[in-house]
Amino acid sequence: MGIDVGGTHTKMGAFSLEGEQLGTHAFDSQRVLAAGSQEPFASEVDVLLERAGADEGRVAAVGLAVPGAVSEGGSLELCPNIDLDLEHCKALLRAQFPQARLTVLNDADAAVLGDCWHGSASGLRAENVALVTLGTGVGAGFVFRGALYGSARGAAGEVGHLCVDPHEQEPCSCGKAGCLEQYASAKGLVRTARRHRVACALAEAGMADGCAKREAAEAFPDARSVLEAFEHGEPAARAALDRFSDALGFGLSQIACVVDPDVFVLGGGLSERADLFLDAVRARYRACALPVCRDTPVMASELGNACGVHGAAYRALETLASDEGDP
Ligand code: BGC
Ligand code: ZN
Repeated sequence: MGIDVGGTHTKMGAFSLEGEQLGTHAFDSQRVLAAGSQEPFASEVDVLLERAGADEGRVAAVGLAVPGAVSEGGSLELCPNIDLDLEHCKALLRAQFPQARLTVLNDADAAVLGDCWHGSASGLRAENVALVTLGTGVGAGFVFRGALYGSARGAAGEVGHLCVDPHEQEPCSCGKAGCLEQYASAKGLVRTARRHRVACALAEAGMADGCAKREAAEAFPDARSVLEAFEHGEPAARAALDRFSDALGFGLSQIACVVDPDVFVLGGGLSERADLFLDAVRARYRACALPVCRDTPVMASELGNACGVHGAAYRALETLASDEGDP
């Protein structure tokens, strides 16, 4: 079973030992998994198993992907977008599946494994893949020389917190400011669109500040609404998408200087609408990249938002083959 805990939604998939997907289910992360939540996680898992036609006793291994830095020791060092009690989550899974192996990994690490297994990179024969997830937050996972790159504190790939604007005043959820994820995530898209909408309302309509902010929050409740407004040519949404693509293209060019992958793959929920921004991201990337890296392909994952689930399951299968994991 692969579980991908996101800042907004948690996606789950059940797979056969041969890697065939048997069923999927998704639920609201805050409602079920945020610290102090009263909703039972086990019943969400049961929905998945029912859809997959499997029962609890047949689950051999669980891979749990979380939106934060996971150290080599398995502790969650940084998790800016959800107040997740990882130990509690693990305890619930252990209680529900006492026979199963349980392994925890970063969501972007899971996403790169998933894409290399069943997604865009699977057919490329690429040895070095950098996958950047675009969801509530932004993260990266690297497969190098065919293996997942891991680091002591789990902070390798924390590219959402690369500084792309040293002049930014508003803090990121990590505590720094000017982070890539403040512009190139679902959260960032909403933030920039609202900011522009407010600025226009103040300048053009002479609206009061509080009123303009309320109006902007209503116009853009989530990233989907910004993308829809963009398709209708709404100016604040256009400005937000421009900022998004600029920041992402620039961010990728900085990542290329460090890891120089064969290919960049974009995953996460927003990658499913890459048709709206991929050309702009590529153009910005080419303009900012070191000449030697300019032609590195940038593509969206065929798995879209499902990369993490596939990768978490892949990792779970690996623990079965290698005898690691817990128990
Ligand atoms: C977190 C990363 C995570 C990414 C995507 C970032 O805010 O710091 O660990 O991979 O969001 O969820
Ligand atoms: Zn940050």
